[in-house]
Amino acid sequence: SSGTLKNKSECVKVVVRVRPLSGKEISEGREVIVQMDVKRHVAILTRPGGSERDAKDFTFDAVFDANMSQQQIFDDTAADILDSVMDGFNGTIFAYGQTGAGKSHTMTGPTDGPPELQGLLPRSFNHIFNNIDTTSQDTKYLVRGSYLEIYNEEIRDLLAKNPKQRCELKDHPQGGVYVKDLSAFVVKNTEEMHQILNAGLANRAIGATAMNETSSRSHSIFMITVEQCGLGTDGAGHIRVGKLNMVDLAGSERQSKTGATGERLKEATKINLSLSALGNVISALVDGKSSHIPYRDSKLTRLLQDSLGGNTKTVMVANVGPADYNYDETASTLRYAYRAKSI
Ligand code: ADP
Repeated sequence: SSGTLKNKSECVKVVVRVRPLSGKEISEGREVIVQMDVKRHVAILTRPGGSERDAKDFTFDAVFDANMSQQQIFDDTAADILDSVMDGFNGTIFAYGQTGAGKSHTMTGPTDGPPELQGLLPRSFNHIFNNIDTTSQDTKYLVRGSYLEIYNEEIRDLLAKNPKQRCELKDHPQGGVYVKDLSAFVVKNTEEMHQILNAGLANRAIGATAMNETSSRSHSIFMITVEQCGLGTDGAGHIRVGKLNMVDLAGSERQSKTGATGERLKEATKINLSLSALGNVISALVDGKSSHIPYRDSKLTRLLQDSLGGNTKTVMVANVGPADYNYDETASTLRYAYRAKSI
């Protein structure tokens, strides 16, 4: 793409990725019910045991089949956004889908795996620091990393000494919403960024166990801020700041069906609320005609307000499983993603 933002809908992309059948699914002889027509950008969903005649087509900005490499996903979803972050604009990448559909694989990849399996986050670290290394010495960069999660509409700083500490969302008088007291570490290279990621992932797991919950019930946001100071043609210094938000969303599976009660039901209600608030914000942005974008309806959308819409770029990667027993959840993910793109 040209990199210029011609209209709002070009700033928001919705793509779908299907993961391969797992070893267990293969050994159980599961039927594959999701086909991707990569050329036409169409995801085709068949009912288990159904014929091609009653298959449903969903068109997106791009679709990725189970053979697509992590590098291809990065090139087609994140590379563009990263370039605009390096130019001082904000950008956001979401991974959406039911638990087990491949959100973490897309976002982080296995932490101890080979480089080919690295997800969007590690690839973004490389991209940013490679870019910095090749720019002229007149431009100075300051890169910072933060990592937080939103659980039950409460924000936790995953890099804080005490990860149980809650953070407040504040409205800045000059406009803009920020997380009060959120840790932000200056990061000099890819290695240091990995240390932050791993520290946050560890805190997330510890917190989840301590609170008797699973991390699939919270949204996590890894934020990278790139501050650039360069000399203009007038000889004066110019500062540009771009921010990248990498969001691994809570599992979208419907808890109501599992007969959740008490805390689990409260959790489920909050997750549904924030995921539908996000869908509403994205579809309002794509529509471009809405005068009101409902950012205030959830912590997630409030927090990301300065990175959704306007001069920013957004990609939502909806992840689905390929197997028959996930039909309902896969259909619901495709509908959610499709609706985010068009109303
Ligand atoms: P989620 O974060 O949505 O709960 P995961 O990313 O943990 O799902 O994926 C579930 C399992 O499937 C993991 O074992 C993961 O390694 C595997 N997986 C997901 N996507 C892919 C893929 N594209 N290729 C190979 N394995 C994948």
